[in-house]
Amino acid sequence: MTSSNDTIDTEVYSSVAMPDAGAPIEVPPLYAWPPKPVATLKWIWSGVLFPWGLVFIGLAFLTWFLLSPSLQSMQVFEWDWIAGIWIRNVALLTLFAAPLHWWLYVRRGQGVTTKLNSQWQAKTSSKFLFKSQLKDNMFWSIASGCTIWTLFECMTYWIYANGYIDVVHWVDSKIYLLLLGFLTFFLSWTHFYFVHRLLHWPLLYRVAHVLHHRNTSPQPWSGISMHPIEHLLYFSVFCIFWVVPAHPVLIVLLGLFQGISPALSHAGFAQINVGQHLNIPSGDPFHQLHHKYYEVNYGNRATAFDKLFGSWHDGTIEAQNAFRERRRKELLSD
Ligand SMILES: [Zn+2]
Ligand SMILES: [Zn+2]
Repeated sequence: MTSSNDTIDTEVYSSVAMPDAGAPIEVPPLYAWPPKPVATLKWIWSGVLFPWGLVFIGLAFLTWFLLSPSLQSMQVFEWDWIAGIWIRNVALLTLFAAPLHWWLYVRRGQGVTTKLNSQWQAKTSSKFLFKSQLKDNMFWSIASGCTIWTLFECMTYWIYANGYIDVVHWVDSKIYLLLLGFLTFFLSWTHFYFVHRLLHWPLLYRVAHVLHHRNTSPQPWSGISMHPIEHLLYFSVFCIFWVVPAHPVLIVLLGLFQGISPALSHAGFAQINVGQHLNIPSGDPFHQLHHKYYEVNYGNRATAFDKLFGSWHDGTIEAQNAFRERRRKELLSD
């Protein structure tokens, strides 16, 4: 695909290369050969579970046991319980995206500390709906994103509620469910890589994915600000649980991770700094480079498919030069 960003600047590169952003972005030790078990365990803790993986796991239990209708009531599609889950999902997304947006972009509580590029939000721009990046992003996230997320989630509950797939219970299968819960993150990342590659097929890019890519300076509400076609592909990850038996908590977990974690990864800041001592990882420098250069980093650091397929940009000058050279050759051969 020919990107609309043929003029390469080094703005993101130079800011991503900040020590805070962790450049060079390295392939996780999980894929090292010979194996590095200690480093892998440390990475699983700090790269997958702590803090956000555990936050989503905890929230999934709370959501299922306190904020969801009973499975029995979901045997028949009815608007009241489906609308309840939609409202719940909108509220949970807002709970993450709104404070992040307020702290980073309205109050500018940490200035440009750990900011991943020098642009701020496009407050008025005709490329966005309502001429506002924030309003545009909120519209697509809530009207289309939360709706399609909710429909896939409800369809999945309905399948379990009617016994088309048996619910796996915690009392019988703790280890299976814990492992499947952990694997849920990797299933989501893997699915995202392949769906995202598909979205960069020129026709799908022009029709759908371009909507997400208008956010050259992403912010929390940009996370699932996508075209409905992209939402259909993106949330089709729920189909995994149409064949792999699970407990509803994992269905919730998948939805929360898929629906809310992009608010963090699109925050545009590598860390949230509150006060002097509270530094919480947020934005994703790896994906930020995708928003800037389009043809690198289609997936996530954790699954490393970009390394395998040659599109890994680690945020260094060497990677930037290699990318620039590749672009130059592509433009010459066009
Ligand atoms: Zn994105
Ligand atoms: Zn993309």
